[in-house]
Amino acid sequence: MEISQPLEELDWIPRPKILALRRLGIATVEHLLTHFPRRHEDRHQFPQFPRDESDKPICLSGEVIKTSLRRFGGWKKIFEATLQEPNANALSQPLVCRWFNLHYVQKMIATGQQLVVFGKPRLRGKRLCMDHPEFEVIEDDQDKSIHLRRITPIYPATEGLSQRMLRSIIYRLLQELDTDPIEPLLPKNLNNGDRSEAIRAIHFPMTWHSLNVAREHLVLSEFFAMQMLIAARRTESHARVSTAHSGRGDLMEKFLRSLPFELTSAQKKVIAEIRRDMESKFPMNRLLQGDVGSGKTVVAIAAILLAVEAGYQAAFMAPTQILAEQHYAVLRRWFGPLGVKLAIRTAAHQEESFLPLVEGNEDADVIIGTHALLYEKVSFSKLGLVVIDEQHKFGVAQRARLTSREPVPDVLVMTATPIPRTITMTVYGDLDVSTLDEMPHGRGKIITAVRDSSKLGEVLSFLQAQLEAGRQLYIVYPLIEESEKLEAKAAAAEYECWRERLRRYSCELLHGRIPRPEKQQIMEQFRRGETKVLISTTVIEVGVDIPNANVMLIENAERFGLAQLHQLRGRIGRGEHKSYCILLTSEPTSEAAEKLAVLEKTSDGFEVAEADWELRGPGDLLGTAQSGLPALKIGDLRKDAQLMKRARISAMSIFEMDPRLEWPENQRFRELIVEKQGRTFSNVS
Ligand code: ADP
Ligand code: MG
Repeated sequence: MEISQPLEELDWIPRPKILALRRLGIATVEHLLTHFPRRHEDRHQFPQFPRDESDKPICLSGEVIKTSLRRFGGWKKIFEATLQEPNANALSQPLVCRWFNLHYVQKMIATGQQLVVFGKPRLRGKRLCMDHPEFEVIEDDQDKSIHLRRITPIYPATEGLSQRMLRSIIYRLLQELDTDPIEPLLPKNLNNGDRSEAIRAIHFPMTWHSLNVAREHLVLSEFFAMQMLIAARRTESHARVSTAHSGRGDLMEKFLRSLPFELTSAQKKVIAEIRRDMESKFPMNRLLQGDVGSGKTVVAIAAILLAVEAGYQAAFMAPTQILAEQHYAVLRRWFGPLGVKLAIRTAAHQEESFLPLVEGNEDADVIIGTHALLYEKVSFSKLGLVVIDEQHKFGVAQRARLTSREPVPDVLVMTATPIPRTITMTVYGDLDVSTLDEMPHGRGKIITAVRDSSKLGEVLSFLQAQLEAGRQLYIVYPLIEESEKLEAKAAAAEYECWRERLRRYSCELLHGRIPRPEKQQIMEQFRRGETKVLISTTVIEVGVDIPNANVMLIENAERFGLAQLHQLRGRIGRGEHKSYCILLTSEPTSEAAEKLAVLEKTSDGFEVAEADWELRGPGDLLGTAQSGLPALKIGDLRKDAQLMKRARISAMSIFEMDPRLEWPENQRFRELIVEKQGRTFSNVS
């Protein structure tokens, strides 16, 4: 049997099952072998039925002694199956399994059957219930030994293909598989055994220990293959010869001297790293990560000035128009005195006539824009540096558009959303990393508190006290530019409402639809302290820096994401006064409450990102499409960070010593770096 053999060619799998397997994306022997269990159940011996509820799901087995179907609320139905444990005695309590509105379940379960169920036992009145448990009907046939009295695999299944059926097919496939060991595609220092053994044990392990060993082996193989691909990309981009894009640094020094503050040592260190890259004739591919407020913009400006001094153009890209505009405003202030010519280019703003400083791209030194810069025929006569802000909103594919240009520019990618280490090692794995791990001095502490909107009265008196003491406030509400459809409160109504509440103080309204000159004027008045309260959408997310504004109230905070709340909160805590961030919520779900509690606990961006990840899963951060990397089949970026690190070190060192994989012992790794369409990292052979 060949690993790549289509399943049709195995004459023992019935046709309908072949079709069902195909729905799971399983077409070959290899696919089936790497259809890994999502969990295992220990079915050697089942525990006695519990008496109490538990939050941990448990696996139980028993006989169906009664079934019933009840209706409620007209068309809704509850199907109940009552299970009795084996060797039941007078003290045993039956377990009631319940399914709501699931027609197929009642067709599958009948009195007298043996069931294995998996779920959380709950007390409902005096009855011990399990709602919507996963279940399997035990049939008394010769296959019983596959399903019972062992550590049993539970697979991602699909309609028309029961757990039992899938398990039996995989069991038989493993039996028919050659017993010859398969050399894994792993270097010696990662190698821990034979691959075919690991494949067997991941499906039908003899012990929990052997399951762990097998899993580690497979995860390492998957991660190593991924890291080889990343290392290959990285080596390739490093090997492209470009030109040095750095001037002598006089312009940069002039700028740095004009700053009203001293750079942090982290900023100095990072600027030196970037400068070294830009002075070399190999293209820079660098990720700059730093928490909100760590001062990434200054670093970016320094890099831009190095390029401009050398006679090159720089592009500065932001993910949204608002961000692009804000950068434009900030940079214009710095670049004016230096005689650096700046242009803005976003989808909307080419036509607008009220941008006096917009000049033709051709003679601008620096062009600020959005993705539009990538897709339009923006003419760069001498592009030497591209800075991408907020990289998490940019895809790898978009980045590649830039780096494949000829001549190749230096690329600096900045992310304000701090990212967990495994993400740095994967999505950004081909980049060199610089970290701003130090905040500018004089940042005050921020106290964050979640309050229910029923407590608005108390919150108001707190706000008034702060205003009385001379402070300024931000009030942020979730009306997001593009989506007025979101049932958030309308801007004007919101504004009127707050003006009424804080009658004695001057309030202003700011949102994305206000024309730019007016917007700038509103910000300027707030900066000067003439306006005391700024009621705003998330347009103040970045770039605003007003030390006297020390209180931020965020309405309907549950509607924002953690990262965004953290970003917003970064606008305060910039002066000598203690700062307060109040997260106002109305009827948050328990998930939302948990989310917001994270912000009360910590103001460290990395901790926020980790928690965010834990709550949401990595989906948002590591969509396959976004990362441009194949999907993981078994590895878990959160749980297996250590394994990823080992795989990465190993892959990087191979390429360091043998960048073109020419050594005889490295030949076999070549197939790992062929970027196949739709491949996964779990190739069996
Ligand atoms: P972010 O990293 O979130 O993009 P910014 O670059 O917007 O942060 O910087 C936040 C604020 O801190 C800006 O107003 C900036 O001028 C200021 N800043 C940057 N570096 C320093 C420093 N070394 N000392 C004091 N303030 C600084
Ligand atoms: Mg920034």
